[in-house]
Amino acid sequence: MTTREEYVLNFIQEDEVLREVRRKIVERDMPSISVAPELGKLLTLLVKTQGATSILEIGALGGYSGICLARGLQRGGKLVSLELNETFAEFARSNLVAAGLGDKVEYRVGPAAESLEQLEREGAKFDLFFIDADKPNYPTYLDYALRLANPGALIVADNVLLGDRVLDPDNPHPSPSAMREFNRRLQTDPRLEATLLPVHDGFAIARVTA
Ligand code: SAH
Ligand code: MG
Repeated sequence: MTTREEYVLNFIQEDEVLREVRRKIVERDMPSISVAPELGKLLTLLVKTQGATSILEIGALGGYSGICLARGLQRGGKLVSLELNETFAEFARSNLVAAGLGDKVEYRVGPAAESLEQLEREGAKFDLFFIDADKPNYPTYLDYALRLANPGALIVADNVLLGDRVLDPDNPHPSPSAMREFNRRLQTDPRLEATLLPVHDGFAIARVTA
C-alpha cells in the first residue's frame, strides 16, 4: 500500500527541473514553502485553459510556481513576478533560465505593493494573478488585481486557510484577520466568482466577471 500523498505525487511526475529547484532551496536554507507539486501542475493547467498571455505573480521565492505558470503561457506570453528579496529574485531568475523560460519572465524587486502601484501607472493588464506573498497584504493585492485585471481574468491565491488559523473568527493576529477578509471578499464581491480548495494550506481560484 502507498499513502494517498505518495499516490498523488507519483501521478504528478514532478520533473527533474522542478525537483532541482526544491533541492536547491533546501541547500540554500531558504524556506521550503514552494507551492505543492499538484498545485503547481494546476497552475500550468489554469494558464493553458485561460489562454493567458500575461500573468502577474506576487511572491517568487525560488521560481517553482513561476516555472509552472510560465510553462502554460502561449507563445509570446509574459510573466511578471514581484519579489521583495533581491537574492531570491536572482535565484528564481536563474531557475527560470535553466528551465528554458528566461525570455518569458520579468522580475520586479521590492515590496509588491510598490511594484503594483508602478504597474498600475504603466497601465499594465493581466489575464491571471497568483498571490502567494506576505499574508497581511492579501486584501491589498486583491484590490490591485481587480484594477489590473482583463475581463475574465483569474485570481489564484495560495495559503488561504493559513494553517487553519482562519477558522477561528476571534484570532486577532494580522495574518488570519487579513486572510478572512480576503476570503470574504472573494466570496461576496459581485465582480468575482470563486471556489476554495482545501488542498494543502488552502487554494482559492476566482474569476473576474467580464
Ligand atoms: N510562489 C512561490 C513561493 C512564494 S513564498 C512558489 O510557490 O514557488 C513567499 C515569497 O514572498 C517569499 O519569497 C518572500 O520573500 C516574498 N515576499 C514577502 N513579502 C513580500 C512583499 N511585501 N513583496 C513581495 N514579495 C514578498
Ligand atoms: Mg504559498
